[in-house]
Amino acid sequence: MHNFDIETGKIKLQRNTPQETVLGKFSSISMSQKLKVHFLSAECYPAAKTGGLADVVGALPKYLAKKDVDVAVFMPKYHMRWFFDKPFVPEYQGGFQMGFEYINFQVERLDIEELGFYMYVIDIPGKFDRNGVYADASTGIFFGDEVERNISFQRAYLSFVNTWTELPDVIHNHDHHMGLIPFMMKHCNEFEKLKPIPSVFTIHNQAYQGVFEWDKKYLIPSYDIWNEGMLDWSGKINPLASSVKCAWKVTTVSPSYMEELKRNSFGLEWLFNTESQKSRGILNGIDTEVWDPVSDTYLDNKMDDDLGSFKLANKKKLLAASRLDPNRALIAFIGRFAGEKGADLLYFIIEGAINSGCKANFIILGTGDKGVESGVKFLSEKHPDRVLAHLTYNEKLSHEIYAGSDYILMPSRVEPCGLNQMYAMRYGTIPIVHNIGGLKDSVKDIRGNDGTGFKFSGLENTKIVEKIILANDLFEDQERLAIIRDNAVSQDNSWENSASKYREVYDEVIAMKA
Ligand code: ADP
Repeated sequence: MHNFDIETGKIKLQRNTPQETVLGKFSSISMSQKLKVHFLSAECYPAAKTGGLADVVGALPKYLAKKDVDVAVFMPKYHMRWFFDKPFVPEYQGGFQMGFEYINFQVERLDIEELGFYMYVIDIPGKFDRNGVYADASTGIFFGDEVERNISFQRAYLSFVNTWTELPDVIHNHDHHMGLIPFMMKHCNEFEKLKPIPSVFTIHNQAYQGVFEWDKKYLIPSYDIWNEGMLDWSGKINPLASSVKCAWKVTTVSPSYMEELKRNSFGLEWLFNTESQKSRGILNGIDTEVWDPVSDTYLDNKMDDDLGSFKLANKKKLLAASRLDPNRALIAFIGRFAGEKGADLLYFIIEGAINSGCKANFIILGTGDKGVESGVKFLSEKHPDRVLAHLTYNEKLSHEIYAGSDYILMPSRVEPCGLNQMYAMRYGTIPIVHNIGGLKDSVKDIRGNDGTGFKFSGLENTKIVEKIILANDLFEDQERLAIIRDNAVSQDNSWENSASKYREVYDEVIAMKA
């Protein structure tokens, strides 16, 4: 069981009795008014992160605790640095036949308080004892057995919960990696006991659906054959589509993205329209404890009353070892070099801006598509006094860039929510964004002295360059720049609001059960 400490914002852990440890878990009789919710996710900050999924799963539980929801996060135990020196307490050992192999697993509970929520990891030798979440950290090559890994984790989790007497109130699965959970709870014979537990499915990124061929159906435990269609989409097993069909409620990470999926979702449009009654978009928040410019341990220069000097001091530090002039506007891009993020457009946008005579400089932090990486590298070599490229994943540097840049550029083709623009605003960095998805919902277009960012509709190079030129003009009007920066910093992007909406969703599914 645990108690939330309002003063410190931390969860105070208490020892479970062995009986509670095996059966009752983190919330017991004394917490009976509180909801017990399990989060299932492939990522969770700070344990393992490749993007926004980790940030959300590592933050939302802390804010749900303030809404009387006890969350326990379940994730795979990777062989990554964070996991090595943490105190994990073994809770349960089990095994099952999965096709032709026997899967052994061990569930372990993290025995520290700092996270602000409970965490369980599932150790599955041969499947997750690797140095990356989806790809080998040293080669960048994706693991080829995603289907077997995901299914083994989901089955291990369900087998574990199947042994409990006091079941969770809600099981909340995140993204396609956990997409077969609602189906297995509803239709697999061995998990019959879990059928009454309401399930919620959150889509952080619909572009990844985890699709696989029917010839692997033997990996799923035996199920009611009449419901086989609940796994299927367009002749394949589609875990994301299956969750949309089988979960009691479906959420996306922004309201606009929910609407966009009904019009364009890689062939799932009909499904999203059909299931719209049970679906809802809830805009992500940001973890204002981790992303706090006043106390950010990654920064040498912390924010105080003078926003202008905070920005300049951090910009000078950021550009110290480069040839970029800190007195010019600095426009940043941080993110995966993937089509969704529009990273392939950077080359043309930056060349276009420089050729148009715009004085702004550019800093880029990212990895991914090798073609984009070489394009960005080429640009930084061609314009060493205008473009600085860091082709790496670096959490500290990302904080320094949010603090030291004047603008963050997001030419995303798809943006389910986007967190960068929210982190940026909190650090006084003004977004320049494509007006879609979560960017549409979280950035207010600049009109005179109102607004928090520049928005463009459509991804034509010239339109984006026009906004960059406007942003540079704003930079040269320091008085107005200060007003817009203030607007951005003052915008409330905290989880408080959104956590209440998730609480509503949990209350709704529990009411459906009654
Ligand atoms: P995604 O679609 O990648 O999940 P989000 O905007 O939701 O996009 O979240 C991106 C998160 O990943 C942010 O916290 C951002 O700062 C971080 N990030 C992306 N690329 C890098 C990088 N190369 N180095 C450090 N942090 C990064």
